[in-house]
Amino acid sequence: MAIVIYTKEDRINISKAKLEKNPWDSSYVVNIKRKMKNEKRLIQGEVCCYCLRDTLGEGGFALHLEHILPKGVFGIYIFDLANIAVSCVRCNMEIKRRDYSFLDENLHECAKNKWSHKVYDSKNYAIVHPNLDSAREHIDIVSLRVDGKKFCFYKKKTKKGEATFRYFKLKQMEIDDLDILQGISVSNPGGAVPEIVERIFDEATDSESGNKVIGDTHQFMDTIQDR
Ligand SMILES: [Zn+2]
Repeated sequence: MAIVIYTKEDRINISKAKLEKNPWDSSYVVNIKRKMKNEKRLIQGEVCCYCLRDTLGEGGFALHLEHILPKGVFGIYIFDLANIAVSCVRCNMEIKRRDYSFLDENLHECAKNKWSHKVYDSKNYAIVHPNLDSAREHIDIVSLRVDGKKFCFYKKKTKKGEATFRYFKLKQMEIDDLDILQGISVSNPGGAVPEIVERIFDEATDSESGNKVIGDTHQFMDTIQDR
């Protein structure tokens, strides 16, 4: 999947950066990171690698180069392109942070200090790995535009898709979207959204694009209330 590759010059700069205390923050890799971010965004189709939400229109600051295995813990994979993806701030900073509980427990200690190819085996991850898995085979997202407002919901296709949905608290994102549509400012974590969105998903995916535009909010809410 990954088409980003390092040039000879990049490799030299990375070697120099690795001699510093904080290689990722080294001035030797500023341009490499910029190039990597732009290319990863294109490869990912301008969506967050975890929640799959559209990131187009968001400034570079809102999107982070994300280490799937956190760089503070698994430093030896810090420049491995397979360990890097682009994620939204919510998934990276609010949810995942330095956690790696999704990695097979047997690798937790042994892979930290000695480079292991096993960290690049999809089977060792409980959640969708942005570079090792094809995300849409596990979880899909459908975006609806209602009265100019965007509404997204998810279809979990596999156990890994389910785990990703839970891990990144994606149900809460569906609820928040629905609340905004209804003009509710306070979110309701217990809201009964999933069944509704499951049905709408099936209708929406019957259309060719997988995306659906519904005329206005009232029409959309009527559709929901009819169910
Ligand atoms: Zn995200």
